[in-house]
Amino acid sequence: MAEIKISLAEGEKIKLADTATVADAVAELLSNKQRKQTIAAVVGDTFVDLSIELGSLGEKDITIKPILLSSAEGLDILRHSTAHLMAKAVLDLYGPDVKVTIGPSIEDGFYYDFDRQTPFTPDDFADIEAKMQEIVNAALPFERTVVSKSEAVKLFEDKGETYKVELLKEIEGDTVSLYQLDDFVDLCRGPHVPNSSWLKVFKIIKVAGAYWRGDENNPMLQRLYGTAFGDKKLLKKYLRDLEEAKKRDHRKIGKELGLFTVNDQVGPGLILWHPKGAMLRKLIEDYWKDEHYNHNYELLYTPHIAKRDLWQTSGHLDFYSDNMYSSMAVDEVQYQLKPMNCPFHIAIYKAQMRSYREFPIRWCELGTVYRYERTGVLHGLLRVRGFTQDDAHIFCRPDQLEEEIFNILDLNLHILKTFGFDQYDIYLSTRPDKYVGSEENWQQATDALKQALEAKGLEYEIDPGEGVFYGPKIDIKIKDVLGRSWQCSTIQVDFNLPERFGVSYIGEDGKEHQPIMIHRALMGSLERFIGVLIENYAGAFPLWMAPVQARIMNITDAQSDYCEKIYGKLRQAGVRIENDLRNEKLNFKIREAQLAKIPYMLVIGDREVESQTVTVRERSGKNLPPMSIQEFAEKIHNECMVGKGIS
Ligand SMILES: [Zn+2]
Ligand SMILES: [Zn+2]
Repeated sequence: MAEIKISLAEGEKIKLADTATVADAVAELLSNKQRKQTIAAVVGDTFVDLSIELGSLGEKDITIKPILLSSAEGLDILRHSTAHLMAKAVLDLYGPDVKVTIGPSIEDGFYYDFDRQTPFTPDDFADIEAKMQEIVNAALPFERTVVSKSEAVKLFEDKGETYKVELLKEIEGDTVSLYQLDDFVDLCRGPHVPNSSWLKVFKIIKVAGAYWRGDENNPMLQRLYGTAFGDKKLLKKYLRDLEEAKKRDHRKIGKELGLFTVNDQVGPGLILWHPKGAMLRKLIEDYWKDEHYNHNYELLYTPHIAKRDLWQTSGHLDFYSDNMYSSMAVDEVQYQLKPMNCPFHIAIYKAQMRSYREFPIRWCELGTVYRYERTGVLHGLLRVRGFTQDDAHIFCRPDQLEEEIFNILDLNLHILKTFGFDQYDIYLSTRPDKYVGSEENWQQATDALKQALEAKGLEYEIDPGEGVFYGPKIDIKIKDVLGRSWQCSTIQVDFNLPERFGVSYIGEDGKEHQPIMIHRALMGSLERFIGVLIENYAGAFPLWMAPVQARIMNITDAQSDYCEKIYGKLRQAGVRIENDLRNEKLNFKIREAQLAKIPYMLVIGDREVESQTVTVRERSGKNLPPMSIQEFAEKIHNECMVGKGIS
């Protein structure tokens, strides 16, 4: 028996026999508390099971990094192991009816895809969970074996697991590892928890269809989604958040509040804005335009189509054609629906000779673009085929870049804050392997982005090599009230398009130079951003962007005339107002206004008519003292100014 030296990344060294396991080493090296939290380990670059023998690792001197259950990797292993557990439970229950495929861990949990004729129903979930619990209670080990590929093929062929056989045939190398949980064998790299007693906290969430390998020509499988945690409390919180997210689903709220619909006859991924949604959008657009004007931008409008030739020059036909629709002939010339606004802004730039004196040029447009997305990925307002970008292009000299990025960040965060978002993650993406422009230009631009972020006092993460081929970029992901992240803003430096279109300006030296071009979108697209807003506010928008700010309701018909008068006056004063003069009980009217998430209700009875006042009820249910119509209009006006950050 040989001895092997073992150590933690930083810490004491011990010696163990080569027949000892990683678990033995962990027991020697870690405190009891940490040991109980250790789910697997990393040796060198390799993830290993705790049960593996030290001698089999092929080293005389081993450094072990324990993976704790509380870490992201630990949670991944726990969830992936729970996917195996669920697969075993499904096979135990529905046996010969089922073929297994794959079951990875994902962001919020795991899934497993099954081939089974009978659909899984939510009623089955309880049965499967009960079976899983039995297996957990039995504390069955996860056993790893390494076998030759041909042996594995035979094993799965005998079991009739044709999907596994297909996968095996594509794996390179002569051997594969298998994991066995009782009688359930899965092809898997691992690592896994030592035994099923680790998998105490789980829940099956939903079932959905999924094509084998995501290909529509393949059989449709049933994907069971589940989640697992190391702690009951975390699962409870997750399920609560999930419930809350369901209530906030923008498609549901969008329909209930009359904001938008998608219609099959019109086409998937194409949004129809109903009057209330159109008002919401108008308010956001107006605010956006005003803010841009105040920050020295100029507004542009450009067409929805252009000759194919333009997209040839821009390079989109070469690099972006998968996302573009087929062209159409107009007077025998081919035209193309636009996937981006940039070439149009360049055409405006090139309409005349430009001088350094004009710089920086800041042009913005709410530009509607069309991009191909597969039907399967379309999702309400969040993933669509036609959408309006809050686009802008800035042309400047290299020495102005840092200041311009600073200004963009300033406007960006200001606008996000007005919409209620002040938590975000910022990423700076640097030069990828394939790129255009000189290395020197990339360095300068990346430094300018960094300096601007630092001058603004913003924390950011670097995504090495994740920049677009044409330049470095900053991405901002906002967090909503449920703590979910949404990619919104992007700021990109571009060395490519100015070159392709021969964009230039006359510098101080009287010579032609190439300007720096910046693309940026703050909200991303109006569709997506409004989807996020709906979910963030659960449809109860702040007063300044509420499509309807107040609803008037009479107690009896006797007050109808006065209600009409209030309506006229408030509408004239710019308040977005509705009248509910139906012959219904007041409580019913209040409840409906509440469901419509209208910020203020004006309840009008005889007393109000007599004193020529309005009684104001807030969305929260709180009543305010009576006030004059004029006072109410001023109150609305002032609250909107504060809401929009103007005071
Ligand atoms: Zn596995
Ligand atoms: Zn652009």
